[in-house]
Amino acid sequence: MNFNLEYFLNDNNIKYKKNKVENAIRYDVTCFFDKNHSNRDAAFYLNDNGSVAYYCFHDSCKNNNFKSVINLFKNKNIDMSKYWNDIKDNNNFLKNDISIYNLNEIEIEKNDWVIKNLIGYNKLTSIFGDPGSGKSFYCIDMALSIANNLNFYGNKVKRNKVLYVAAEGASTIKLRAIAWSKNKKIKNSNNFNIITKPLSFSDADTTNKFINKIKDNPPDIIFIDTLARTFGAGDESSTKDMNNYIYNLDKIRYSTNSAIVIIHHTGHSEKHRARGSIALNGALDFEYRVEKNDDIIRITDTKQKDAKSGSLLGTFRIETFNTDILDEDEECILSASLIQVNENEFTIKPPTGINQKKIYQYFLKNKNKKIFTKEEMYEDIKDQFKRKKMFNDAFNSLEGIYFNISEDGYIE
Ligand SMILES: [Zn+2]
Repeated sequence: MNFNLEYFLNDNNIKYKKNKVENAIRYDVTCFFDKNHSNRDAAFYLNDNGSVAYYCFHDSCKNNNFKSVINLFKNKNIDMSKYWNDIKDNNNFLKNDISIYNLNEIEIEKNDWVIKNLIGYNKLTSIFGDPGSGKSFYCIDMALSIANNLNFYGNKVKRNKVLYVAAEGASTIKLRAIAWSKNKKIKNSNNFNIITKPLSFSDADTTNKFINKIKDNPPDIIFIDTLARTFGAGDESSTKDMNNYIYNLDKIRYSTNSAIVIIHHTGHSEKHRARGSIALNGALDFEYRVEKNDDIIRITDTKQKDAKSGSLLGTFRIETFNTDILDEDEECILSASLIQVNENEFTIKPPTGINQKKIYQYFLKNKNKKIFTKEEMYEDIKDQFKRKKMFNDAFNSLEGIYFNISEDGYIE
């Protein structure tokens, strides 16, 4: 366990100046024990081995250490336990201690799940796809399966309290829940809660208010629908803004232990990846892509932190259901829910762009004959392209849909 010093400092609005010193990072602060020791006379040391120390440089403070700071805050009724999380992955704590263990001493870390093998408890997941790709139908299906403790297409549901942040509109969600309940022939439980206001998780104040609202009875999982609508004034393409957004989501996760699922859009030209700064992908534990063709959608696994990704999770038809709710003309309002179908019902239409076709033809002709890289492909057909950029743009728009690049750089 490590103490998350920066989270503690930011969370309590403690001003600091950060310096890298030998074997540690020093955070200069005003002394907590004597107001006169105000000229950044005190400092925290985040040591390279992850431990934290506190010193004030005045003699009168010589008995005050990190433990005294903890006790001081505890006496102010601040819950210090939330800062003691093992978050070295996210905060890049420098680890220089070299320990050797015998294999017999190693304990297996068991993953804690909301949905087994799919959504980790306290983890960050993104589900992305084009607008209208059916990703919110998939997420609603997932959220309702969790809330109703219903096995999710073969994966065991382990926890049940759902909070859905629905910028899309609560009424639509309610209709979809009715359609889902008809589809599954299950009466909806009361484990599904919803926030209908658009919240900005780019904003520290809003994030803190949100944490305060949920922390006494935190949900097991929070669905954020969508990233764009909860990004506030930030710019999704900016690494700085994305990191700030992720920081706030991490703060929610570490204060509540909830899992977070972000619903997100595909990149504009690169359909195989999510839109915006790549910093998001780095922070994710799980990522899933939703694609749609006519009324059939397909879900693939694009990131599993500890396992090989790329597997197909399921193919579904978006089926219309009668909700039994009447509109102003006394006609029944329709909604939809997913029915699992055979994977070959999802057919990919060949690409239509002129440059896309050249690449796609080459791929079809050669995929069973030889192994090749993107560069080798370009060498073979470069005469057909005016500029390399045209090749690259067309190639990027096809990657992930018609073919993938293996870790070794081969096209498959
Ligand atoms: Zn002092």
